[in-house]
Amino acid sequence: MPAVEGWFTLEEPAALLGSRCDTCGTCAFPKAAFFCGNPTCDGTTFTEVPLSRGGKVWSFTDARYQPPPPYMATEPYAPFAIAAVELAEEKMVVMGQVVAGVGVDDLRIGMDVELVIETLYEDDDHEYLVWKWRPCD
Ligand SMILES: [Zn+2]
Repeated sequence: MPAVEGWFTLEEPAALLGSRCDTCGTCAFPKAAFFCGNPTCDGTTFTEVPLSRGGKVWSFTDARYQPPPPYMATEPYAPFAIAAVELAEEKMVVMGQVVAGVGVDDLRIGMDVELVIETLYEDDDHEYLVWKWRPCD
């Protein structure tokens, strides 16, 4: 089950779910509900849309401390990388954990990454899933 409900699809290929303003077409993630992200637009209705499944690394950082949800990590806590990725089509920046085994030394600004769904953590009943970024090559 998704660790955060309604933020991404679970079908293959997985995609983040954003919103597109019905008035001006501005996309948002997480989804806009009441206000358009475009300051010159007064649109208040939005359509759910799947977002680009890939983009380019815009910035990245090393999470050396336990971050807040939904960036929960393994126990015991192991550092991982978080990347801010500019989506190919929407040109907006979406943060996400980088897949296990890829550290900041493996990342560079402008590299292509794609969206994957991985287990965030599990308990006795469920696996909780979250999106992560994986370098394309
Ligand atoms: Zn708008």
